Amino acid sequence: MDQVLHKSAAVQGEGDFPDERELELINGYTRRRLSAGEVYVFSVVLCDNEVDRDGERFTRESLDALARLFVGKTGIFDHDPSAKNQTARIISCEVEQVQGRVTAMKDPYCRLRARAYIPRTENCLGLIEAIDSGIVKEVSVGCSVGITRCSVCGEDIRLCSHTKGERYGGRLCCGELCDPLDAYEFSFVAVPAQRGAGVIKAVRGKENNMNIIIKKLESGEQLGESERTKLLGYICELEERAKDGAYYRDSLTAEVLRLSAAVQPAVSRATMESVAKRMSLAQLREFRAAFEEKLDESLPPRPQLMPKKRNEKNARNGEFTI
Ligand SMILES: [Zn+2]
Repeated sequence: MDQVLHKSAAVQGEGDFPDERELELINGYTRRRLSAGEVYVFSVVLCDNEVDRDGERFTRESLDALARLFVGKTGIFDHDPSAKNQTARIISCEVEQVQGRVTAMKDPYCRLRARAYIPRTENCLGLIEAIDSGIVKEVSVGCSVGITRCSVCGEDIRLCSHTKGERYGGRLCCGELCDPLDAYEFSFVAVPAQRGAGVIKAVRGKENNMNIIIKKLESGEQLGESERTKLLGYICELEERAKDGAYYRDSLTAEVLRLSAAVQPAVSRATMESVAKRMSLAQLREFRAAFEEKLDESLPPRPQLMPKKRNEKNARNGEFTI
């Protein structure tokens, strides 16, 4: 079982130049050794263990696992079509406990904080300015987890009898996102939260319970009250999932088109669009990986220092509207 999640996260404060340790990590990803003056480093909180508005949260163990999975992942700013080379990369990631703060579940508040860098090239100037001036405050991150467990009984939350947000003997029921399997790239979001809190998720997995209910339906057997509720819930979930699937496909396609324009400009967008339409998700991912590799190879050899210009904040704002 495998659940894909997209959560919004926050960019923290202004960026800076890397320290020595960070520069070493950065140079592990670059083809040419960069100096501290050539990169911009900033912090981003990817997720935490607080219960979100979906009544779900990551466990401390999940955050630890995600800290490993997010290292090396890239961030893109895909709402700006001219932003083909604007990429950030996570160089380190750690779970930090915030002293004195507790979660709704009454345990110490922890968050996953990443350090990421952007080369100070002309291409990335806009994005760096946007982060510096606070236009870009959020990123949307994606990951997949193996199972969402009920905080009360520990079972798969979709199969047990507890309801998220309710209390049982004083204990709050929430979905605990467990067994992270993978972390995906993140996107910079200029306008916070396109959909609600920017929380978009898809659930995919075994539907053992449903099989039983569906068999009953097929054989014309009456469904009990709780089975009916589960069935209705399942249908809603499928609808959500279809929306998320479409959303994921759209963002993946946009990324492939963006990369394609950068690495094979001779192929028109229209052609690439019509090809992408017929590709499976796996094929789209394959193309993306191949294009990214090509783009890496063609990265500008000499990044240039970026002068800070803040007064263009308003003039630039339009570029970052979704
Ligand atoms: Zn339960």
